[in-house]
Amino acid sequence: MSKTLIVKCPICKVLVERKADTFPFCSERCQTTDLGNWASDAYAIPDNNSVVDPSLILGDDDDGRVIH
Ligand SMILES: [Zn+2]
Repeated sequence: MSKTLIVKCPICKVLVERKADTFPFCSERCQTTDLGNWASDAYAIPDNNSVVDPSLILGDDDDGRVIH
């Protein structure tokens, strides 16, 4: 017995079955749209932080110890 889980497509709010190939999206188009949204968001925020933050802390700490 398998339950059929149905969710709403996050993009267009159409009902989607879990067994759908593109779950939780109703179609490849919505899947791509969401991936694009997420990717541009993720790219802009965490990438900046993870690149700037550690090198800033490490460089500051290292510099201070070496100079003093
Ligand atoms: Zn959709």
